[in-house]
Amino acid sequence: ELDFGITPENLDQLSTESFPLCARNMHEHMRKDHHLKHEARLQFGLFLKGIGLSCDDAVRLFRQEFSKHGISEKQFNQGYKYNVEHQYGRVGRRVNYAPPSCTKIITTKPPNGPLEHHGCPFKHFTGSLLEQRLKTYGLPPKDMDAIKELAQKGHFQGACTKYFEFTHRKKLTTVVDQIQHPNQYFEESRRLIDP
Ligand code: SF4
Repeated sequence: ELDFGITPENLDQLSTESFPLCARNMHEHMRKDHHLKHEARLQFGLFLKGIGLSCDDAVRLFRQEFSKHGISEKQFNQGYKYNVEHQYGRVGRRVNYAPPSCTKIITTKPPNGPLEHHGCPFKHFTGSLLEQRLKTYGLPPKDMDAIKELAQKGHFQGACTKYFEFTHRKKLTTVVDQIQHPNQYFEESRRLIDP
């Protein structure tokens, strides 16, 4: 079992260093809007579980954020808390749900409108949104163009792999030649940054 020492308190730093674009996007929206819609809560929640955030910490994190959105303690406990605990297999059918792979994220349930933040940015962002975001994250135009070109050609995981290599200034070290899973992205990143 990998232990990255994840807590709600170090997520901001880890998100800028080691989250793939899909997770970083949902994380930023959670911090900024203090809310995420159902599909994003599911995708982001399972990603966080996969990188080792405990169930209690996940409940604490979402409670803190959603309270800033005006969701009362009672509403949170009745609606959202169950869903978080469900993802961890603590309640309901007690299934230990696995975080979805890139293929699954790319091929199912595209975000419906600008208020939904789940999915894969390389597939679901418009070209200009992707460009704007990569610019905000400090990628030089040359790197940005290479990533955008791959995304436009439908090579979403290839674009993600390039993004990894440009932001880490290193090639992937695994046997697989591209990013297959958001949690793989994170683990690879931590291995490089904090071996
Ligand atoms: Fe996330 Fe996978 Fe898309 Fe990368 S390719 S942003 S890891 S869904």
